[in-house]
Amino acid sequence: MSAAPTSSPFRVAVVGAGPAGFYLVERLLARADVEVDLFDRLPAPYGLVRYGVAPDHEKIRNVTRVFDRTAANPRFRFFGNVEIGRHVALAALRRWYDQVALTTGAQTDRRMGIPGEDLAGSHTATEFVAWYNGHPDYRDRVFDLSAERVAVVGVGNVAVDVARILCRTPEELATTDIADHALAALRGSRVREVVMLGRRGPAQAAFTNAEVKELGELPAAAVRVVPGEVALDPLSRAALDAEDDSATRKKVEILEGFARRPPAAKTRTLTIRFLVSPVAVLDDGSGRVRAVRVARNRLEPAADGSLRAVPTGDEEEISAGLVFRSVGYRGVAVAGLPFDERSGTVPNRGGRVVDPGTGAPIVGLFVAGWIKRGPSGVIGTNKPDAGETADAMLADLGAGAGGGAAGAAHVLERVRTARPACVTWADWQRLQALETERGRAAGRPRVKIVPVAEMLAALASDR
Ligand code: NAP
Repeated sequence: MSAAPTSSPFRVAVVGAGPAGFYLVERLLARADVEVDLFDRLPAPYGLVRYGVAPDHEKIRNVTRVFDRTAANPRFRFFGNVEIGRHVALAALRRWYDQVALTTGAQTDRRMGIPGEDLAGSHTATEFVAWYNGHPDYRDRVFDLSAERVAVVGVGNVAVDVARILCRTPEELATTDIADHALAALRGSRVREVVMLGRRGPAQAAFTNAEVKELGELPAAAVRVVPGEVALDPLSRAALDAEDDSATRKKVEILEGFARRPPAAKTRTLTIRFLVSPVAVLDDGSGRVRAVRVARNRLEPAADGSLRAVPTGDEEEISAGLVFRSVGYRGVAVAGLPFDERSGTVPNRGGRVVDPGTGAPIVGLFVAGWIKRGPSGVIGTNKPDAGETADAMLADLGAGAGGGAAGAAHVLERVRTARPACVTWADWQRLQALETERGRAAGRPRVKIVPVAEMLAALASDR
């Protein structure tokens, strides 16, 4: 794979410094005649590893060490706090670089499309996650944690994260890197019961086994399921018996184990419901959430061979003062790129962006990660995904010398002119050291600096 360095290297821009971006950069830099500039709209890199992974999952964040090793390559540069489409146009990047790859993820949420979804007290899980993780755009969000019961719609891993954070005590959270504003708000939380709502059965639940198992091990919260909802229906049982799917079998066993547990004397309860679909979020008369009306479901075969939920006609009201909708992320269109509204992704073939009309690749434009395949998989899934895109990019670069792109110094000057407050990798390392130092003093992995202005001020005072 490695070619001899040439005097004029190929120059590539990657937009989005999350896991897909870093895995892509790592693979591109494996070839010695490639230089990569990585752009992010925030001063801090790592995307969802910093702003999505739950604070009580610190081990998962260790993957940033791999990203830091990539960033130490002398052919790598970081331009943080630079938004493509705002400070620098995508068209400019296309002129400056031999190739441009977008790894911008899925920045918004899917909607349920039911009445009451936008009542006060009904939020998306993505907002709550970004808030407790100290994402600068979400720090001013207010969540009324005075409610005793909270409903979380969906049974994916994000729903699990939200439910778990709500069930942790302030003492448990205080040793994590949760944002200070969130820790302060959660100290005053009166939430005592979290109810997760799955529309299909236990065998179809989107959460993974390690994550659901952890729900059964929470120090302060007793996990509860409704035995009749956990017992497999004949169709799910037949599907499970027919398939060699040990992970789903294990998932069902974990949930059946929860059904057999004797009541535990804990201060909080986490209830996982199945076969219920929210049909309305109900108003308390003053525009605030008071309950979720759910339809009870049964499963029937869908055209694609999966099992889908259909209402039985029975409904139930679950009182809740706060609702989090955790029904999946969704990609956002990037100006200048084609976009498939249905899947929320950029049309592509193996990472090469294609014109949806003709199906022909758009030369020099690539995607990787959630904007390429949709919001699925764990962090590691992005490695092979980005690998496929990197292979396409390197094949298209060919074996010859570069030289078509603007020089590194020229781009630096252009970006600095367009965005004087751009943040370099060395800047980020100083911020990271500051956060770790503050964390050490408080017995936490780091204390995050949240507002962008504060990050920039910290850099200025440290110069
Ligand atoms: P997800 O895994 O796709 O789960 C979405 C959930 O929402 C599913 O239970 C889905 O049910 C449900 N849903 C969708 N539309 C609904 C509707 N209209 N009404 C009721 N329920 C509805 O998405 P996610 O939880 O946002 O996670 C995104 C990705 O990040 C996943 O791949 C996840 O594994 C990953 N992640 C991993 C971790 C970790 O490893 N610890 C942590 C967080 C996220 P159906 O199945 O019936 O559609």
